[in-house]
Amino acid sequence: MKEWTRSDTLALASNRCTSCHGLGLVFGKRGKSNPCNCVLRAIFRACYARFRHCVEKEKYMSKVSLQFTRGTDRRLTWGRKDEEYIADFVLVSRRSLTPTEYKVFKYHFLLGADWRLCSRKLGLSRGNFFHMVYRIMHKLGRVFRELEPYGLYPLNEYFSTTVRGVKPVAAPLPPPTPDRVPVRPWRRAA
Ligand SMILES: [Zn+2]
Repeated sequence: MKEWTRSDTLALASNRCTSCHGLGLVFGKRGKSNPCNCVLRAIFRACYARFRHCVEKEKYMSKVSLQFTRGTDRRLTWGRKDEEYIADFVLVSRRSLTPTEYKVFKYHFLLGADWRLCSRKLGLSRGNFFHMVYRIMHKLGRVFRELEPYGLYPLNEYFSTTVRGVKPVAAPLPPPTPDRVPVRPWRRAA
């Protein structure tokens, strides 16, 4: 479990928050520090904004970028960062939420339905709908930051270094096609 410190939360906290008063941390029993809900919402909003940005961009282009993998095996890997982020955002959310929460998440955040449509479709009162939305934001904000080994947040770390689910391919790319591999060294005719 990640230990949250003020440096994680200060920039994200809301100055008007009555729970943390802008510090971003709340203290539980035995003085254990926890991220305030205003921080978790800020993390969720940042990830969600990036997700929407990636979805919009993907409609127009699909950029393949060449990236270095982490660790000792520093080979180059082809990856599609935006597509990976879109997939991670949805998969991590589905894995972390209850089936009912995921339904609300899907209708509201993925399909863009407003509270009226969600309430009607899911049989929730307005109050229960917003209560659920807040719970989803708090839950996912924490998961996106605490996810091991690579979280969806901070975004700059995700987009600068992370390569997952992609088998590293040694550079240079692409590999030679079989019909171009010489059987023996080519020699100039005398
Ligand atoms: Zn707060």
